[in-house]
Amino acid sequence: MKARGLALPRIDPARCTGCGWCVAVCPPHVLSLHPQGRVKISALDDADGCTGCALCAVRCPFDAITMLRRQALAQSADEV
Ligand code: SF4
Ligand code: SF4
Repeated sequence: MKARGLALPRIDPARCTGCGWCVAVCPPHVLSLHPQGRVKISALDDADGCTGCALCAVRCPFDAITMLRRQALAQSADEV
């Protein structure tokens, strides 16, 4: 059974440099770098596999990751 954390990382593509630190530090390996034009940016591949540990947000040297509560994310998705 997958661990399901209360929060998920939101990655700001404008701040992400594609350095890959978050990918390297994520224990369940649910982040990866995705090509976006000529650069790569980090993305969450498996939200259900994310434990909400926030290691990725702590490790990011560019403050590109914010942890948001799943409930808040669901509500903002409803509002779109
Ligand atoms: S650690 Fe931060 S800047 Fe580096 S790839 Fe991850 S989100 Fe992007
Ligand atoms: S919060 Fe933890 S489990 Fe979720 S993506 Fe970040 S490092 Fe991985």
